[in-house]
Amino acid sequence: MNKNGHPPDAILSVKGVTKSYGSGNAKVEVLNGIDLEVPRGEIAMIMGPSGVGKSTLLNLLATLDEPTSGEVFINGENPFSYPEKQLSRFRNQHIGIIYQFHYLFPELSALENVMMPSMIRDKNWKNEVERGKMLLAEVGLSHRLEHLPKELSGGEQQRVAIARAFINNPALVLADEPTGDLDRTNSAALFDLIQGLNEKFGQTFVIVTHDETFARKAHRLITLTEGRVSGDEVLNPTNP
Ligand code: ADP
Ligand code: MG
Repeated sequence: MNKNGHPPDAILSVKGVTKSYGSGNAKVEVLNGIDLEVPRGEIAMIMGPSGVGKSTLLNLLATLDEPTSGEVFINGENPFSYPEKQLSRFRNQHIGIIYQFHYLFPELSALENVMMPSMIRDKNWKNEVERGKMLLAEVGLSHRLEHLPKELSGGEQQRVAIARAFINNPALVLADEPTGDLDRTNSAALFDLIQGLNEKFGQTFVIVTHDETFARKAHRLITLTEGRVSGDEVLNPTNP
């Protein structure tokens, strides 16, 4: 335990997190005290019935929304203690987000989309263009650098979004239902891609999914029931 009371190896530590929306009679309590820890370098999946609060939790981990109570430590820091500007910088530098609908800029090429978080981070982003090309090559798109999103298939757009999530070398990569639009073959290919990136670059992944076959390949499976963690299982230990 370090001075913050959590193991230094946990890239992600969530303590007693609650989240409710609205107030009075309209109050909806979604998360009722979430405790979880994800060690550095793991691929962790989150499953649970529709409406249980998976996306709500992932948005908190992405620091896009604040918990009602409780604490979230990411890479040993408590980002919700930061003023807004510092929080944005923290998110840009430490968290890679793969959105369900990709959110690529339609007028920007694949490479420009991948570079966007780097442009936001640093005026010297041009030094990172080779890294952007390397990441697009990693996801099998070295022949699509100048293509616009509309010139790419859905699966290719997703791979651009994955490369973009890696550009700033974040500690934590988050994804919400990344297999939502994929058939079984492509879900398996997506897991292989994520596993390859995890092994090569060491990023920790937290992924929400309803796809059990996909989930069971991960290192850890966290299950949510009625706003709480009802299961936290190591399925496939990471190599020491
Ligand atoms: P899941 O991703 O597990 O399907 P969500 O996290 O999207 O579930 O939603 C959990 C619950 O919180 C749902 O009942 C949903 O209606 C409610 N909810 C989500 N976002 C809001 C919001 N901004 N305002 C009010 N209720 C919300
Ligand atoms: Mg959801």
